[in-house]
Amino acid sequence: MSPKGKKIWFDGEMVPWDEAKVHVLTHCLHYGTGYFEGIRCYALEDGRSAVFRLDEHVRRFFDSGHILGIPLPYAPDQVKKAILDVIRVNGLKECYIRPLAFLGYGEMGLYAPDNPLHVIVAAWPWGAYLGDDGIKNGIRAKVSSYTRHHVNVMMTKSKVSGNYVNSVLAKNEVKKAGYDEAIMLDAEGYVAEASGENIFIVRQRRVKTTPFTSILPGITRESVLIIARDKGYDVLEERFTRDELYTADEAFFTGTAAEVTPIREVDNRKIGASCPGAVTSDLQQTFFNIIKGKDKKYERWLACL
Ligand SMILES: *Cc1c(COP(=O)(O)O)cnc(C)c1O
Repeated sequence: MSPKGKKIWFDGEMVPWDEAKVHVLTHCLHYGTGYFEGIRCYALEDGRSAVFRLDEHVRRFFDSGHILGIPLPYAPDQVKKAILDVIRVNGLKECYIRPLAFLGYGEMGLYAPDNPLHVIVAAWPWGAYLGDDGIKNGIRAKVSSYTRHHVNVMMTKSKVSGNYVNSVLAKNEVKKAGYDEAIMLDAEGYVAEASGENIFIVRQRRVKTTPFTSILPGITRESVLIIARDKGYDVLEERFTRDELYTADEAFFTGTAAEVTPIREVDNRKIGASCPGAVTSDLQQTFFNIIKGKDKKYERWLACL
């Protein structure tokens, strides 16, 4: 799918979609020296639209640049405004939003402190990343032979463009083997996360997710942790092994793109008796109510246009 819209915000200007171009010697194209965000805007039941957890996404976008040592040349409010403007200018009620900061054309060596840092914000309609059937009935995952980045090899808390070659290797490997998504183990062999999603397991109604070691700190992950605690579930952020995942009653992925997607099978082993399980369904339903503006308790997470 090639997305197509009207305009892209590019270094402070609204540029026609087909004219948002860069030079082939753009530093980021060669070395992955960029960082991005993935955000969703939802149509609410009252007819308005709202960006889900805009402040947290913008904060993480700045954190990504700070970690990389290539900070954004804007204030957070300017980035927020750019995001909201892009949605409006493109006439979108519901969409995926992709801010990206990247080192541009200039010095071709690795050390390029004077190359310009460009920033774009694009938006386009994007349905369920792992499919509508995946959201409803669960997906089939496989543990990849590729290890998730070691915490001192790549900066795992930053959505650095170059980090995603690791995810692409894992995703391509399992897709070619006939599975929907790749689960990656950390350098010590514990379950880390998926190629672009965090992972949760449930056993005896106890909800567990991997801690902040090698994972990308997902905003959907954090939202689901808050929802689960508010609902009174026992919630743990603790490392777990591949065989603990196999023997879970339920498992699911969280991410802006994947939302809350149940996992029905891992490495050809069924997860639990039925999928999605009761706890997964409960958390997923609450999440979908919140993003539709049906749950007033979490209204603070919605930035209306
Ligand atoms: C973006 C991302 C996630 C999910 O984060 P959200 O904030 O929930 O979208 C999880 N893992 C990786 C590797 C990611 O890049």
